[in-house]
Amino acid sequence: MEMFLDCLGASREVGRSAFMLRTDKRIMLDYGIKIFDESGNAKFPIDMNANPDFAILSHAHLDHSGCIPALYTQNRALKWYATPPTREICEVLWKDSMKIMGEGLPYRIQHFKKALKHWTPLLYNQRMRMGETDICLLDAGHISGSAMVDIKYKGKRILYTGDFKEEGTFMHKGANYVDDVDILIIESTYATREHPSRKQLEKHMMDEINQTLDNGGNALLPAFALGRTQELIALIRHYNKNVPVFVDGMGREITKIYLKHHQYIRDAKAFRKAVRSVNIVGSIADKKAATREPSVIISSAGMLNGGPMLNYMTRANNASKMIFTGYCVEGTNGWLLQNKGHIIRDEQELMVDMPFEYMDLSAHAGRTGLLQFIEKANPEKVILVHGDKPEDFAKDLKEGRGYDAIAPLPGERVTLSF
Ligand SMILES: [Zn+2]
Ligand SMILES: [Zn+2]
Repeated sequence: MEMFLDCLGASREVGRSAFMLRTDKRIMLDYGIKIFDESGNAKFPIDMNANPDFAILSHAHLDHSGCIPALYTQNRALKWYATPPTREICEVLWKDSMKIMGEGLPYRIQHFKKALKHWTPLLYNQRMRMGETDICLLDAGHISGSAMVDIKYKGKRILYTGDFKEEGTFMHKGANYVDDVDILIIESTYATREHPSRKQLEKHMMDEINQTLDNGGNALLPAFALGRTQELIALIRHYNKNVPVFVDGMGREITKIYLKHHQYIRDAKAFRKAVRSVNIVGSIADKKAATREPSVIISSAGMLNGGPMLNYMTRANNASKMIFTGYCVEGTNGWLLQNKGHIIRDEQELMVDMPFEYMDLSAHAGRTGLLQFIEKANPEKVILVHGDKPEDFAKDLKEGRGYDAIAPLPGERVTLSF
């Protein structure tokens, strides 16, 4: 018996996740975009005419979801399955990317609308059968609604992890381990790196925030609208009930979706309380109030490429400090600030002398987490995707631990035979 996996993206790179699994069905697992590529242009899945029977979306991040509307450019009526928060967050993110990228995207507004119409809900742990293929989504612990795709076909179990975090955070309990997997298609973003202790990092962050505010400054937290903004609200309120917190940017809208789908977060009661206690910026007056007093400001963009955070940066006084909690891709303003001491705004180089710090609050499993996950799954074959150098990790797994591990090339077809 044979199955195939066509690797249409996220193969030896992070971005444009897209995998067509061929059982008795053609199943598209994610169909994403790579926004920041070293070429300077966005990248899309390798086969833009792919013709799946249906698609399954692991989660809403654009590197997994950004090209789903492009599946509808050829007048098709296929269904795509995802959890309800994933669908709702996609609508917000896709709209925003149409605003920013416009003609640069491989689809138009009518395809976006058609895609939304063809969404079909699939909840965690709800089994679905298509022909001889059995599909189930499992909580991936990465962002709201994020899922691993558990597929069974002719007695074999294939697990596609999407992005996952096994360790609990304020927003999520952490992904469950899965036993007895035959083929494991696993992300490897942090295959060569360990995360620092989460608890120590949280304490360090609170010390930095408290010190900055005591000095009369603003603690500026550039944050991804999806996931990080919500985690920071919960984290700060867990440690400090009183510090003034302002939340701006697209994270406001995403936070509402998090609250609406409260069953997808760890402690909905605590989160609702935390959101009620922060200032959701709604007007110019609110924006001004944020820098008038010592406060914490959480706003997009996480990599400082646009978004209200740039304005807060220019208004904040010189006792202020910037705290990055997410990875900044090379060439973005966040990366420029951390590495060259300037940002680019309106095509001008602007020197920034505000002190900054980087704290790794990643929503991905670190190296040990990945190894533990693989060990528990005990697969016959490991396919490493969504990483910068997965070939090195494949070598480690093969030589050091005896796994049949591969890191497919972009466009490669992997044959899975039994
Ligand atoms: Zn993700
Ligand atoms: Zn991703």
